[in-house]
Formats: sequence, C-alpha cells, structure tokens
Amino acid sequence: MSILDSVVIGAGQAGLSASFHLTRLGISHVVLDSDSEPGGAWRHRWDALTMRDVHGVAELPGESPPPRDGQRANTAVPAYFAAYEHAHDLPVIRPVRVDRVVDDEGILVVHAGERQWRTRTLVNATGTWTHPFLPHYPGMETFLGEQLHTVDYPGPEHFAGKRVLVVGGGASAVQFLGALAPLTDTLWVTRREPVWRNDDFTPEAGAAAVALVEQRVAQGLPPESVVSVTGLMLRPQEREAERLGAFAARRPMFSRIEPDGVRWADGSFERVDVILWATGFRPAIAHLAPLHLRSAAGGIQLDRRGRGTTAVQDPRIQLVGYGPSASTIGANRAGRSAAKGVQHALAREPLRTS
Ligand SMILES: Cc1cc2nc3c(=O)[nH]c(=O)nc-3n(C[C@H](O)[C@H](O)[C@H](O)COP(=O)(O)OP(=O)(O)OC[C@H]3O[C@@H](n4cnc5c(N)ncnc54)[C@H](O)[C@@H]3O)c2cc1C
Repeated sequence: MSILDSVVIGAGQAGLSASFHLTRLGISHVVLDSDSEPGGAWRHRWDALTMRDVHGVAELPGESPPPRDGQRANTAVPAYFAAYEHAHDLPVIRPVRVDRVVDDEGILVVHAGERQWRTRTLVNATGTWTHPFLPHYPGMETFLGEQLHTVDYPGPEHFAGKRVLVVGGGASAVQFLGALAPLTDTLWVTRREPVWRNDDFTPEAGAAAVALVEQRVAQGLPPESVVSVTGLMLRPQEREAERLGAFAARRPMFSRIEPDGVRWADGSFERVDVILWATGFRPAIAHLAPLHLRSAAGGIQLDRRGRGTTAVQDPRIQLVGYGPSASTIGANRAGRSAAKGVQHALAREPLRTS
C-alpha cells in the first residue's frame, strides 16, 4: 500500500483550510470525513439558526463566506463548503469514520473499519460536535420529562407551552433563552456566575481570549472553549428575553433531578417539563488514543513556540480546530500553520517520536 505524505481527518473549516494549504505546498494527502455530505458541524445546527444569528463565519482561504442574512446556517455554510471543495479540487473522501490511528514502525496507519491509509504525517481536524458533553446529576434517569442537549435542539416552537430549564453558562444557553423566553416559561441554571461583557468585542479582546486558551494547551491542560473566556454578550435578538427577566433570574446548579423537576441543596424545588443541557462539547479525539498524545494534565500539549498546532509528544501530528483554534477564524489560520508543520515534519524524515 502506498504511503501518503499526510492524512487530514475531518472536513469542517479546519480540515478544508489545512487541505487547501497542503495542496498549495504540493503535499500529497487525502481528507477523510465521517459525514455523508460537506458542511462539518454546520450541517447539524438547528433550522432556526440563520446566518444573521451566528457569531460569524470566517472565510475559507480566498473565498468570501455566505452573507449575514436570513438564510439557514445549516444549508448556507454546507453549500459554501461544498463549492469550496469543488473549486479547489480538495481530495475529500466520505463517509469515512476514522476509529483509530496507530504507529506502525514510524508510519501512521489510519483505520476506518476495514479500510486503512498509511501516512507520514497527520492533521486532526475532527472538531467537537460529535462529542457532546452531558454532566451527570443524581436522579437524572428518573426524570419523566424531556432531556435534550444542544446537538438535539429542534428550534423554539417545539418548546411552546412547556416549562424549560436551560443548563449552562455559554453562548448556546444565552441563544436558547433568547429564543425561548418570549415564547414560553424558562429557568436558567449555571455552575458559575456568568461573566457579561458590555464593551465592544475588539480584535484585541479576541486575541487576549485566544491567548488564554493557548496558555492552557501549551501546558498540556484540556482546552477550554474560546467562547468560555470571551464572556457573554446579549445581541438584539436576546433583548426581549432580557426584558422578560430570563437572564436575571439565574440560579446556581441544582443538586438532584426528580421525576418532575429539579431540587437544590437548600430543599427548594422547581417543576420543569424539559431540561435543555447547553453544556458544551469536548474534542473528538478518541481515535488518537493509541498514539498516547495526552499529557499527565489530561490534554494534548501543543508546541506554542512553533506554529501552535504541532503535538509536542509527536511532531508528525498537527491538531487544528483544537483549543485556541476552535472557532472558524482560528480553524482557518490553524489550517495554514498545520500545513507548514507537516512540511517541516516531512523535511525532517526519518521521523522520530519523542
Ligand atoms: C452551537 C455552536 C455555534 C457556533 N457558532 C460559531 C460561530 O458563529 N462562529 C464561529 O467562528 N464559531 C462558532 N462555533 C464554533 C465553530 O463551529 C467551530 O470552531 C468550527 O466551525 C469548527 O470547525 P472544525 O473544522 O474544527 O470542526 P467541525 O465543523 O465539527 O468539523 C469536523 C469534521 O470532522 C468530522 N469527524 C469527526 N470525527 C471524525 C472521525 N473520527 N473520522 C472522520 N471524520 C470525523 C465531522 O463529521 C466533521 O465533518 C460554534 C459552535 C457551536 C457548538
């Protein structure tokens, strides 16, 4: 079996950007993506999310993103990605779900069921959407109402007439409350006091937030989302919910779930019909486990002095859309850095792992 110079896993913003730059550098590669159609995580976002509602989709190298209008994000962004793959003739193969990557005497072998690809380097761009995080609370399994995670959000109409408890202190929770509070009765709980941002989100503030996540991955700590360090903002879409008090009436986390509601440690109780877990995601990197990239601190340490995408444990491997590059703009830039990291690793053959 021939040996590729690189394999990219994942064809979202990060994987497409990496593939574009690898192609430009003349590096032979394939992009393996588990979805049946282009679009990455954007294909799976809820129907009510329009391009006007998203925080912003950065452009893929050299091609303007879809306009910020009333189009559905889950069709506009996938169409943009599809056109991009086509225009740049990117070597995407789908559907291919990678289940593990192993090292075979210095060559990386990427397994997907019965299929395999051999490669000198790897760019991991698998995002987080396929790895939703659901915390466990006592009594969770006894709840008789409905429990949903962000990945299942069916749009606001589904909740009309139901009492909805939104759990989580991130941008998704704020968006959900913004959409639901004008329509139905809502409650909000978060683990920590939310940090609101009232000033303009300048490029400097964005860079400072990214730097905080960068510091974490440089120490090998599990990354926190960039959004979690930028603070929360209310947009015009959320002002009506604010006026109705949806954000002011926040409570700390309950201590247990009962069949018809949630109870706090002080004995107080709220009846709810739905628990909407807006509790985020974790990096989808289980397939990399055989490579033992995780540090003792629990995350994959990335080389901060170099390009910021190279795994310290094994410089053949680049991670994009991970930690500081987990936003469309970050993923885009990381794709370029990763392609250079791949070029650098190939120039250093024979490769050694540390
Ligand atoms: C609700 C929500 C809203 C957001 N809104 C914004 C926003 O407005 N602006 C912004 O910049 N960022 C936003 N983000 C973050 C942003 O979506 C991501 O940072 C970025 O789009 C992720 O791109 P990606 O390429 O890293 O991952 P993804 O788009 O998730 O792509 C990863 C791809 O890898 C594939 N894959 C996963 N595992 C495997 C496997 N084992 N084998 C093969 N393929 C695999 C997946 O199918 C997918 O196609 C949002 C995130 C969420 C959750």
